[in-house]
Amino acid sequence: MPKVIVIGAGVVGSSCAWRMAQAGAEVLVLEAVRVGAGTSGISYAWTNAHHKPPRPYHELNTNGMKLHAELRDAFPGSTWWHGGGSLEWTPPEEYQALRDNVAQLHEWGYRAEWVSPAQVAELEPDIDLAVLGDAPAAYFPDEGWLDPIPYCHAMISAAVRRHGARVQCGVRVTDLIMSGDRVSGVRMADGTEHSADMVVNCGGRWTNEAVREAGLHLPLAPTPGLLVFTPPVACGLSRVLHTSVINARPDGAGRLMLHWNPTDATLRPDSPISPTMPEARDLVARARRLFPCIGAVEPEAVRLGIRPIPADGLTAVGPMPRVNGYYVAVTHSGVTMSPFLGVCVADEVVHGKTRPELADFRPARFFN
Ligand SMILES: Cc1cc2nc3c(=O)[nH]c(=O)nc-3n(C[C@H](O)[C@H](O)[C@H](O)COP(=O)(O)OP(=O)(O)OC[C@H]3O[C@@H](n4cnc5c(N)ncnc54)[C@H](O)[C@@H]3O)c2cc1C
Repeated sequence: MPKVIVIGAGVVGSSCAWRMAQAGAEVLVLEAVRVGAGTSGISYAWTNAHHKPPRPYHELNTNGMKLHAELRDAFPGSTWWHGGGSLEWTPPEEYQALRDNVAQLHEWGYRAEWVSPAQVAELEPDIDLAVLGDAPAAYFPDEGWLDPIPYCHAMISAAVRRHGARVQCGVRVTDLIMSGDRVSGVRMADGTEHSADMVVNCGGRWTNEAVREAGLHLPLAPTPGLLVFTPPVACGLSRVLHTSVINARPDGAGRLMLHWNPTDATLRPDSPISPTMPEARDLVARARRLFPCIGAVEPEAVRLGIRPIPADGLTAVGPMPRVNGYYVAVTHSGVTMSPFLGVCVADEVVHGKTRPELADFRPARFFN
């Protein structure tokens, strides 16, 4: 069975580590900071597959959604995945786009239903229906959200406790060790070396920083995303909302997590952030329009995450061209897809199979 190094313990690395260890590989996870310290810890973490064309990309996401639901059987008592579906409505200029999206999802066999204002009120009684107005609203029953860090911890713990994997945190990979055209291991910041038959880089937005050779760099186009957190509020929100004024979901203990795409577009990866910044207050004010019951609260916390997005916006999973023994798994929507990517990567790296679902997502497409 192969000796595998996994770089990074976010949702993707943790899922790959567990599945490869379960498949019999000798797995060593090397994590620069701590489990879930990267983008996975600053994610809206909505498990969904809508607005995700083309179809093979949509299906990576639906396969991930199915596995998130199924993992509850493999981990009895787990509480990191929350179902309940999601609700969406848009401003009038986007009504047609939502209708087109729902029609396409129906064609692809994805559950999406139109719901009346009364049904919206039944699902989420605290919403002010004046904000909904006469907008068409869609309900996606199979969607939900994840608590990514408990998920990562569970995957890593299962890899270690059930299958003998090893994990080191606070250790940074600085380069690959080459033997001819084969990657034979990694070199750490303190000079330590680890050997492996295969190095699987799950370093997210930092993927290229673990590799000095520019020819082995994956083209990335990361984008920043701001998340704003309320203090605990008297609001019964119980599912993901994507609305014309704010996107919101529960974040435990009564807190709401808020996100607004147009605000992201005004920020840079190095933008300074604080709970008192006008953008954060604006998101809370938007949430108050939807949920007057939250009252005059201020933002409690803000976080800026950087999405690890391959340059063409799609997933990149597979062997890197020009060398042997080096495999990458980098993607946006990684929270949704990670359980499925873990299964696929284990099949390819440990069992030597080729997963057809990954055919359109090979890193080689960037190097032709
Ligand atoms: C604001 C925002 C909202 C999002 N919303 C959603 C959503 O609703 N649904 C969804 O599915 N996805 C969403 N995403 C995307 C999703 O969060 C990411 O795709 C996912 O977290 C990526 O996980 P990862 O494991 O690849 O990367 P990360 O979580 O970043 O993990 C990489 C790990 O590698 C470690 N590392 C890096 N370099 C090294 C090195 N040299 N040596 C050792 N370790 C290293 C890091 O410390 C880190 O822990 C969102 C992202 C953002 C920022």
